[in-house]
Amino acid sequence: MSAEGHFDYVIVGAGSSGAVLANRLSADPRLTVCLIEAGPADRSPFVTVPLGVMKLSKDARHNWLFKTAPQTALDGREISVPRGKVLGGSSAINGMIYIRGHRADYDAWAQAGCTGWGYDDILPHFRRSEDNRRAGIDSHHHGTGGELAVSDLRDANAVDRDFIDAAGQLQLRACPDFNVAEPEGMGIYQVTQKDGKRHSTGRAFLAPIRARKNLHVMTGAEVLCLTLDEGRATGVTLRRDGQTQTVRARGEVILSAGAIGSPDILLRSGIGPGGQITGFGGVLAHDLPGVGQNLQDHVDCMVICQSRSRTPYGISLPALPRLALEGAKWVFANRGMLSSNMVEAGGFVRTSAAETRPDIQFHIIPGRKSHRGRLVEYGHGVSVHTCVLRPESRGSVTRQSLSGEPQIDLGLLTDDRDMLRLLKGVRLARQILRQGPMARHGLTEIIPGDALDSDEDLRAYIRANARTVYHPVGTCAMGSGPMAVTDPRLRVHGVRGLRVVDASIMPTIVSGNTNAPAIMIAEKAAEMILQDRKTA
Ligand SMILES: Cc1cc2nc3c(=O)[nH]c(=O)nc-3n(C[C@H](O)[C@H](O)[C@H](O)COP(=O)(O)OP(=O)(O)OC[C@H]3O[C@@H](n4cnc5c(N)ncnc54)[C@H](O)[C@@H]3O)c2cc1C
Repeated sequence: MSAEGHFDYVIVGAGSSGAVLANRLSADPRLTVCLIEAGPADRSPFVTVPLGVMKLSKDARHNWLFKTAPQTALDGREISVPRGKVLGGSSAINGMIYIRGHRADYDAWAQAGCTGWGYDDILPHFRRSEDNRRAGIDSHHHGTGGELAVSDLRDANAVDRDFIDAAGQLQLRACPDFNVAEPEGMGIYQVTQKDGKRHSTGRAFLAPIRARKNLHVMTGAEVLCLTLDEGRATGVTLRRDGQTQTVRARGEVILSAGAIGSPDILLRSGIGPGGQITGFGGVLAHDLPGVGQNLQDHVDCMVICQSRSRTPYGISLPALPRLALEGAKWVFANRGMLSSNMVEAGGFVRTSAAETRPDIQFHIIPGRKSHRGRLVEYGHGVSVHTCVLRPESRGSVTRQSLSGEPQIDLGLLTDDRDMLRLLKGVRLARQILRQGPMARHGLTEIIPGDALDSDEDLRAYIRANARTVYHPVGTCAMGSGPMAVTDPRLRVHGVRGLRVVDASIMPTIVSGNTNAPAIMIAEKAAEMILQDRKTA
């Protein structure tokens, strides 16, 4: 084993949070920062070209490709849990939708004791990283001039607008900007794209600072565990090119390995539920029962239609000339179908008047998704994802032995209240698809299929088909109760020199996609870390 250098800060994971944190901390040339990433550099064209998202969700080179344990409430199915494994992390393989959530999400964190995390506190951190490209966007909610480009899709499919109009016929209003304090209604999403290309945090926050001498970025380096000395994190042990080595931190070790990776590294370091750690043969360093618990994700189910119209994207013989044209549009102007994130439109709606804010989200794909696990299906169509925004079900990340993969149990639909919401949401999606403005596309529902309409049938359909929209959070929750893993300054309870900064610190999941919140978390953490350094 060799030791490689001493740094002020060692950051594990160069994903949505880690890349931002590395940028902010290394902005001070007096500080030395080491950023350690298990995956490779992000040179792949599939990362650059937005439509490459379809390939990346199954690509072992850039994706951990985790699977859950059999999900008891989903007919025992194992669900895919893709996670980015590349500079930029999941922001390099995700659907690029830029969404922050609802004011009440953050205010609830603050009310639960996470001082400094209320909506008004965190809004400036969202603004700081943002470079919103829409002319005239409101400057109270949005930033311009930050590192991360947030853009309108260059060529959204005409189906999106029809779906929004169809929802309008059911009195679901249009929402021109989803990133205000209380988003509600239907619209076309803004995306993390710059000039039609994906803008991952690797591209936005790391590429421009490659020349900084005080930032050392290690790729292909998988952290195995922390090194600890008398209750203090002093560095990490990692494996790179088949060799084990250590990297030392003079100041702090910061885990930004995501909602699966961060609790897993803690467990492998002996920090977590005591019984579990000794049970799998680990050496208990600090008993912290909340590590890996409180896992939450947005449970989701699809309605897929095929269309007679060829306006939606798709592969068919008559569409071949159009596909060639789309290719040319990308090559010459970074426009057209290849600049699509596929999940172009959607919205936030309430499933009943009793809800105080939207409880489900739609993601609309102007194309026929495969329900058979294929990359593409022949033909054209429209697919609508419906997900539950604030699920009650909880899961966990645990270990059964020191080696091998972590055990991920998302616990999807283990609380029947989530099933009830999803059921109502799926019914609403079908209803929208049947409204007048969608008629010109000549839709035929493939799944669930018109024959399935009773609650009983739809419940069975959901159990057999539900998955997630890939937003796991909460496994190193901040707070002060017995199950909290970090305090509101994101310092791990009971271990000095150690923080967690990524989506795992959310005590409860936000009402929307989780990339922008993970970036905001890093912005706020960087500020706190630098403040704490001054006062230390
Ligand atoms: C397919 C997919 C689609 C999604 N679509 C959207 C979307 O459209 N909009 C949206 O807002 N959100 C989306 N999300 C979710 C969003 O991207 C994530 O919530 C967010 O990126 C999480 O950020 P993070 O920093 O917590 O973790 P990540 O970005 O996952 O970063 C963790 C990093 O740590 C590295 N790492 C892990 N373990 C180790 C280790 N032991 N040693 C070294 N490095 C390690 C990983 O390789 C990774 O690079 C999607 C996610 C996926 C997977």
